[in-house]
Amino acid sequence: MRIVSADVVVTSPGRNFVTLKLTTDEGVTGLGDATLNGRELAVVSYLRDHVVPLLIGTDPQRIEHTWQALYRGAYWRRGPVTMAAIAAVDVALWDIKAKIAGLPLYQLLGGASRDRVRTYGHANGRDIPELLDSVRARLAEGYPAVRVQTGVPGLQRVYGVHDGTAIAAEADGQRIDQRVLPVEEDWDTAGYLRHVPEVLAAVRSEFGPELPLLHDAHHRLSPQEAARLARTVEPFDLFWLEDLTPAENQTALRLVRQHSTTPLAIGEVFNTVHDYRTLIDEGLIDYVRSAVTHFGGVSPLRKLFDYAAQQQIRTGIHGPEDISPVGMAAAIHLDLAIHNFGIQEYSGHTPLTERVFRHAYTFTDGYLHPGEQPGIGVELDEELAAAHPYVPAYLPVNRLLDGSVHDW
Ligand SMILES: [Mg+2]
Repeated sequence: MRIVSADVVVTSPGRNFVTLKLTTDEGVTGLGDATLNGRELAVVSYLRDHVVPLLIGTDPQRIEHTWQALYRGAYWRRGPVTMAAIAAVDVALWDIKAKIAGLPLYQLLGGASRDRVRTYGHANGRDIPELLDSVRARLAEGYPAVRVQTGVPGLQRVYGVHDGTAIAAEADGQRIDQRVLPVEEDWDTAGYLRHVPEVLAAVRSEFGPELPLLHDAHHRLSPQEAARLARTVEPFDLFWLEDLTPAENQTALRLVRQHSTTPLAIGEVFNTVHDYRTLIDEGLIDYVRSAVTHFGGVSPLRKLFDYAAQQQIRTGIHGPEDISPVGMAAAIHLDLAIHNFGIQEYSGHTPLTERVFRHAYTFTDGYLHPGEQPGIGVELDEELAAAHPYVPAYLPVNRLLDGSVHDW
């Protein structure tokens, strides 16, 4: 069997998605998600200009061999663009192999370790009453766990509360001449640190002690600030505290660990196991958060999860709306198969996106299941995808009150 075509499809049914479609000489197709939010076209070029020519004529069943050839063969390793491109190839090849076997992908990964995949949803509010309403809405949808984010008094636009999409950018008048510029958000760490305990106290008081609660600091704190936050929120018994410090510094969480037993999660912007080595070897985290789409695919993510399991670290795969249903499906197959699963982030997609990407996975009572369709169980409606072309869009940028740039 040989790969005879490799097409890169860019579509924007409300937000941008990049999909790789591989086709074999026997007519078997495989899909992979290559969406890198805010930098989509860089991955498109990496695939079309540098990867597709290497794939044509190769054996689609040699997944590990192809992965190693793309990773080692480029000389320039790692990085989000490279690893998103390799991820798309890896997932498309697993899709093909599972279709050839006539099995859902999770069966090739060892079969189901659980009956269903627990998720968490997002509750957001500009203030505490709005947040409490949002938590109620998630619970009504069946979510068994909720991530809570609110505005901070004195700040206009804060992560997780303000919607930073292309559509929001246009509505906010960020389009200047023919350019679309990033939405600007603002930030004040001292105000945030004062506000978070009050927010969590209000949520606990309204919903009781049993609801698993998560919170995301989005890489904005120094090691000292992070340690203080983790210690301050201990009474509220978080499921996890996420992305406390900037991702480049793996040793920053040592200080947090010395001062708190709050469970820590990190890794949505990591691309390879090397980004985790200190964190895992020293037991500095409790959950690894990488997505199939940004970590080079199912093959390396499975290896990471097995490595993390040696320190009793569990998984919490990144699952925002910009992971396409293709990337989400691959994640759910992994979630079902691995033993050290923790939780899966899941926000769902717009009805139009779900028509462009028809999927076998289901979301019922807050739990996902990948379904029993051979492969990853996603089909791309290419005609509908073509009717919704790429829209230029950035992620937001974040500024301190004096105008200087801070981590978003
Ligand atoms: Mg996050």
